[in-house]
Amino acid sequence: MRIGLFGGTFNPIHMGHIQVVLKVVKRFSLDKILFIPSALPPHKEPGDVVNVKDRLEMIHRALSGYPGLDISDVELKRPGPSYTIDTIRHFKGIMDENTALYLLLGLDAFLEIDTWKSYSDLFIMVPFIVMMRSCNRQNEAGYGWKSLEEFLKSRVSMGYHYTALRSCFSHEKKQPVFIFDVTPIDISSTDIRRRIKKGKSIKQMVPDVVDSFIKNKGLYL
Ligand code: ATP
Repeated sequence: MRIGLFGGTFNPIHMGHIQVVLKVVKRFSLDKILFIPSALPPHKEPGDVVNVKDRLEMIHRALSGYPGLDISDVELKRPGPSYTIDTIRHFKGIMDENTALYLLLGLDAFLEIDTWKSYSDLFIMVPFIVMMRSCNRQNEAGYGWKSLEEFLKSRVSMGYHYTALRSCFSHEKKQPVFIFDVTPIDISSTDIRRRIKKGKSIKQMVPDVVDSFIKNKGLYL
């Protein structure tokens, strides 16, 4: 069994999240992806984050038509801020030895990983799949695979080297970092929240069931 762990604030979940992980499932032959909403996002301003119940409900509705995409509420059950290292330890503790875990994250999130709790331990514990994000954001912040390589070598270990055949940064003693270089899907929760505040449509950026949930509840106004 090959399982992808996909953490995030999902504030709200959007088509960028769904479309990119569906491609990851295919490319990496994963059996399942678990969306893992965080309770208190340690890296985000709490003011803009809607409550856990509504975020969870939106994820439930959004994923209902996708059999390979599931939810784990492990971070919601844990008191305090959600740290990925605790989540990985949790899954390592309950999965059998035939289960391979992969940690999925967008390039933007990966380039901030050195601010995460015990981040260097993550590179010992679990392989990464890093997904490309939109060009605008890359240009703004100087993102791209080049920055990933520089980041990996300077902040994690000089021992990482690129293996083109596997589209992966490998290391003798650490877990591989796979890069998933698809055409980026230019959707972000930030943009969705901004559009709602301005009274603009978010159709096609989120599943219809999420759009109507947001409207009915008056979220992000
Ligand atoms: P925000 O704009 O509020 O920061 P977000 O759109 O980045 O939100 P998150 O819930 O914070 O969404 O993201 C969870 C994970 O999904 C992160 O690893 C992020 O990089 C990744 N991700 C989000 N949107 C996309 C996208 N369009 N393509 C690829 N990865 C994405």
